Amino acid sequence: MAPRSFQEYSFRSFTPLPRLVAMTPPFARIAALLEKRTRGGWVWVLPNLVLGCFVLSLFALLVVLQRYEQATQRNALAQDIQWAEQTIRTHLTNNQEFLQQLANGVAEGSLARESFQAQAGQYQRNNPELTHIVWVDADQVVRWTVPFETTAWNAGERLSLPEQTLTFQRANRTQQPAYSVPLVSPEGDATIEVHVPVLHERASRGAVIGIYAAAGVLRHLAPAWFSEKYRLVLETDEQVIGANSAVELQTDISDIVSLNPPGQGLRLRVSAYATKSNVPQKMIVFLIGGLVLLMAWSLWALGAHMRSRLRAERERDRLFNLSLDLLCVVHLDGHIVRANPAFERVLGLAVETLYGRPLIGLVHPDDVQATQEEVRKLARGEPSTGFDNRCRCADGTYRWLVWSVNPALEEGLFYCVAHDITERKRSEDAVRAEYAFRKAMEESVMTGLRAVDMAGRITYVNPAFCRMVGLRAEQLIGCLPPFPYWPRDDNAEQWHNLTLTLAGKAPANGFKMRITHAGGKYTDVRFYISPLIDADGKQTGWMASMVDITESNRTRAELISAHERFVTVLDGLEAAVYVADARTEEILYANLAFCAIFGPDAVGRNSRELTDCCTPESALLLRDPQHLTLADLPCELFDGELQNVVSERWYHVRDRAIKWVDARVVRMVIATDVTERRQTEDENVRQQVRLEQTSRLISMGEMASTLAHELNQPFTAISNYAMGCVSQLESGKYRREDLLAAMQKASFQAERAGKIVRRMRDFVRKSEPNRAAVALADIVEEAIGFAEIEARKAGVDIRINLPPALPPVYADRIMIEQVLLNLVKNGIEAMVHTPRKRRHLSVAARCNEDDQVEVEVCDNGHGIADEETEKLFMPFFTTKAYGMGMGLNICRTIVEFHNGRLWAVSNSGGGMAFRFTLPLGE
Ligand code: ADP
Repeated sequence: MAPRSFQEYSFRSFTPLPRLVAMTPPFARIAALLEKRTRGGWVWVLPNLVLGCFVLSLFALLVVLQRYEQATQRNALAQDIQWAEQTIRTHLTNNQEFLQQLANGVAEGSLARESFQAQAGQYQRNNPELTHIVWVDADQVVRWTVPFETTAWNAGERLSLPEQTLTFQRANRTQQPAYSVPLVSPEGDATIEVHVPVLHERASRGAVIGIYAAAGVLRHLAPAWFSEKYRLVLETDEQVIGANSAVELQTDISDIVSLNPPGQGLRLRVSAYATKSNVPQKMIVFLIGGLVLLMAWSLWALGAHMRSRLRAERERDRLFNLSLDLLCVVHLDGHIVRANPAFERVLGLAVETLYGRPLIGLVHPDDVQATQEEVRKLARGEPSTGFDNRCRCADGTYRWLVWSVNPALEEGLFYCVAHDITERKRSEDAVRAEYAFRKAMEESVMTGLRAVDMAGRITYVNPAFCRMVGLRAEQLIGCLPPFPYWPRDDNAEQWHNLTLTLAGKAPANGFKMRITHAGGKYTDVRFYISPLIDADGKQTGWMASMVDITESNRTRAELISAHERFVTVLDGLEAAVYVADARTEEILYANLAFCAIFGPDAVGRNSRELTDCCTPESALLLRDPQHLTLADLPCELFDGELQNVVSERWYHVRDRAIKWVDARVVRMVIATDVTERRQTEDENVRQQVRLEQTSRLISMGEMASTLAHELNQPFTAISNYAMGCVSQLESGKYRREDLLAAMQKASFQAERAGKIVRRMRDFVRKSEPNRAAVALADIVEEAIGFAEIEARKAGVDIRINLPPALPPVYADRIMIEQVLLNLVKNGIEAMVHTPRKRRHLSVAARCNEDDQVEVEVCDNGHGIADEETEKLFMPFFTTKAYGMGMGLNICRTIVEFHNGRLWAVSNSGGGMAFRFTLPLGE
């Protein structure tokens, strides 16, 4: 699922919390969508639209009503105008007819002046729209006037205005009544004249003129109700002649009536006054308008209220979403109804995955019981001061949260706030561990600690200090100098030290002091002083650490004496001893013996320079100490003998790499003078060689008669062959072949004798040991070559059993021959009393499991008791009357010289078996 945007969280926040209680996530989403629309203003469109439609409808209704009203008014106006037009026209026509009667009377002369005035006056009074009725003769001179007393028209005056003249002429010309154009006096009064021609037998006798005042026409010709209802304006194209009201009306309910008669463009404009019936209509309009405004205002106010509420909710929502604390709403049954994104930030749990999940499911199993107990307390309405527990994160780890839960039981909800206190817990644990550590350190430390304030008053002592002075902390804290542990006789020095301490002038290497234990015992101590600085960086006193140096003094004294002993011992040694740095070869220590050899200034010099004069004879171990690490130590570097080429003395040198007192790698060399020993050894070796040679000579001596006998045979044979040849040569009867055969045989015998002599010479020849890889078969052949003469004499059968693939041995041939000859000879001699047929002696060899060649000489002789087998090898042990008892001893020495072993075992079938080993000759 894609992560939700901040807005989505915001939208959800508009949903009132209680409504969400029963909402499962899909419903919550729908609600959120609705809220989104609410926020987007869709909801406000409808009421605004309805309001607008309502206002428009009302206005449309008003317009329609007004139109209807206007149409009604127009109809009424049309009817009234029609009626008024008719009435005016009738009036004018009647007036015209009356004036015609008068004109007729004047033309016939039947109408006297008095009658004229009487009739016209009477008529004029009845029709006040006519202001004057006059008779003007053909010369346009006023003759008679009505009313008589008028000043406007005077008898005898002529028509002065051109319009009057024109109208007069038109009437007489057309012999029809003619209306003048409106005549406006300088005072502004307008009049209209109707000229009725006075014709007598077609001759003009002037005209009777009726004068209409424009105002009179409007006042008297239109009925009173008409004048009240309408504003009447008498006008021409050019000007307004008169009006029944000075008020200008802005109304479109008006009509124009063309007056004909009198014609001349004269017309009557009729405009309707506002009727009384408009007042309630306007009131309705105002009322509706007012209501619409009120409604619009209430909608605006509602909108403003909603906006401020939404803003408040947005702010609350932002707080909810941005809160670093975990906020959630939990149903009474424990299921999460709502959670803020802090759950994701702190626990890594996506918010949507939490809905519907039990909150207790997140709690660490060890904290579940305590948490449930707290929740039950809250559900019972008991107050809770908050609790903490561990909640599981998405990655399986747990974080410590402190919960503050506000139950809303009537809503069935818990409002929960959790603050992540993992770090605080960690630091608390760290502080606790640190405190415990410090406490343990304080308890276990052997150094006494004492703090004094700037005035010298003791403010702190640790248990070690209390132990050292034999007083309790309460007895010490608060004490001012002189302190109870100061020795009475030493007070002056103590005061001096304290003064230095308080002045900050205590020496860096501390004070050496003596204190008194409460039990009376004195202890030597060393005080180290350092300033005591508080958290604000201000010095509050001095901290002193007190170390008991009694023991260290004693140890130092012991060390010194141990060192002296050590030096004395080393200097007393005959061996030269020195220690040199493995890297720089600088001699760090040399004993007297070394200095005696290399000079008293040996220490500090380069060991290589001093010992270069020594040549190694046997380097058993020779390693470069440069690359040694402490882990490799101790390590043998050299073990062998060296000769000082200057003094020519021999030393056994043992060179070891060890860790020195300052932890660096050093070489410790012990050189023991072995010159005497070597000389003794050399002498021994020389004597041994002489002994061996003597032994061989003895062996030869022992075999002398046998060898003489052995040599005698070939010599006798040679002599015989030589004599035979001489005889044959002297007789002259000889055959060449016989002589050749005899000479060849003599030669063979001479060779045989020569071989015996060479072998004897080799055997007894004095020579230095010379080891080399030799075939054992060759050695055996040579040795048996001597022994078989004896064996033959003693009737012993020698059997040689050597594997064909036997590897060569690393040996001195003559020495091993000597060993073999001795063993074989002893075997032959041991079988003196053995029945002849059993006198077998075998020489066998094999390669043993230790990669050595093991040689066995086995006989069937008298043997020897088991307990005496080791005695055999002792010098001068012999059972023979003429024996020396040195043979086996020399044999063992020779074998051991060859790094081998010689031993004897009793043969199971009687007799002895002597075995020895030799190294392989690779
Ligand atoms: P010698 O032959 O001069 O006595 P050896 O050292 O060779 O000196 O021998 C020492 C003694 O060991 C002999 O006297 C003999 O008693 C005993 N001995 C040596 N070899 C044998 C053997 N094969 N069987 C029994 N005894 C032996």
